[in-house]
Amino acid sequence: MIEFIPQPYKLFNKIQNYEWGTRDGNAFIPKLLGQQALPDTPYAELWIGSHPKAPSEIELGSRRIPLNEVIAQYGLESLGQYVYDKFSGTLPFLLKVLSAAHALSIQAHPNKSEAVKLHAAHPEHYPDDNHKPEIAISLDHLSALVGFKPTREIAETLRSVPEIAGFADEKLYARVVDRTNTEPAEDAIKGLYSEIMAKGEDKEQLSTCVRKIRERLQRKVTRSPEEEQFLAQYEIYGDDVGLLSFFFFNMVQLKPGQAIFTDAGVPHAYIEGNIIECMANSDNVVRAGLTNKFKDIATLLEIMKFEFLGAGVINPDPKSGEVVYKTKAEEFRITRLLKKEGFRKVCRTNERPSICLVAGGEIEVVWNYAGVDHLKSFSKGDSFFLPAFLKEYRVSSEHDSDCFIVEIP
Ligand SMILES: [Zn+2]
Repeated sequence: MIEFIPQPYKLFNKIQNYEWGTRDGNAFIPKLLGQQALPDTPYAELWIGSHPKAPSEIELGSRRIPLNEVIAQYGLESLGQYVYDKFSGTLPFLLKVLSAAHALSIQAHPNKSEAVKLHAAHPEHYPDDNHKPEIAISLDHLSALVGFKPTREIAETLRSVPEIAGFADEKLYARVVDRTNTEPAEDAIKGLYSEIMAKGEDKEQLSTCVRKIRERLQRKVTRSPEEEQFLAQYEIYGDDVGLLSFFFFNMVQLKPGQAIFTDAGVPHAYIEGNIIECMANSDNVVRAGLTNKFKDIATLLEIMKFEFLGAGVINPDPKSGEVVYKTKAEEFRITRLLKKEGFRKVCRTNERPSICLVAGGEIEVVWNYAGVDHLKSFSKGDSFFLPAFLKEYRVSSEHDSDCFIVEIP
């Protein structure tokens, strides 16, 4: 292998063409990359990182080498001692650009110890032994479901969905919607939701319930955002138990720059929009609906956190030119630099690796190697890997620019 030196390496990334991606004139990822979209091809995710399912590549000499192979060979140079030791010689995060035309499956991710068990028992469904905390940052907009609503809101919503009483346990339903209950019991909601998910296997009963709701909603003059989504997703997924989740979860509409963080066990589904997503380097998903893929309801109910809170939207100052998205994740911390022309910033890597994605405009990166200053320009759609042994670099731009830098806190 050609010598690996401390410098920024441009990344060549892979696109995942999952069915729910945007296509043709709406295809966001090709636009970001300055490419022509292939006709009727869904562009769902761009993976930027070293995950073995779709590792990014860098150029060493005249060859393109997958980043996971580079890290395997140059562990300390690329990761630095701290990250190398803490994350067993691997890059701990995966950065994605995600573009959804319609809902992704409702899902939750296991915590670390659950992931180890699931991977050992069913490696075909759970390819990684790692947890997957994730942050989704809206680029233009994002509609999403995230976490259970506060109990009173669930009761309020479910009062207007009486069809559920005919599908799930009537007594549980009655307990949840009982108006004499000032605080509906969490265990009643948990019981009702669990039963709905389990009963979803009974296709006939599910179909009757879902179709009744649909008919009623179609006749309604004004509909809530949840009800609109119920109808829209029905057109795609048909009689899917996931549709009933719209009545239990927080529905959020994120503006540009706003974000949601989902920790282990928090149910969520991205519905529509273009986002930057960053997660621990893992592809473990436990699905619960709005999908044709493998569903594992028993596992989902086991790992799901029944916490009844608001969505917890991260809402940075829209005028700030530098936003740090702080979360409890140990694997990543994203900073967004949204700068006017003429900015200049010295960055220190703290001898840890980072990845930068240019989401708009153009930047110059200057670094010193062997006593000489070097410069590379990166423009919209470009991303690059900064190995840990590059201790310092400078970013500047003569244009307005928009960059996401992922570091390890
Ligand atoms: Zn997820």
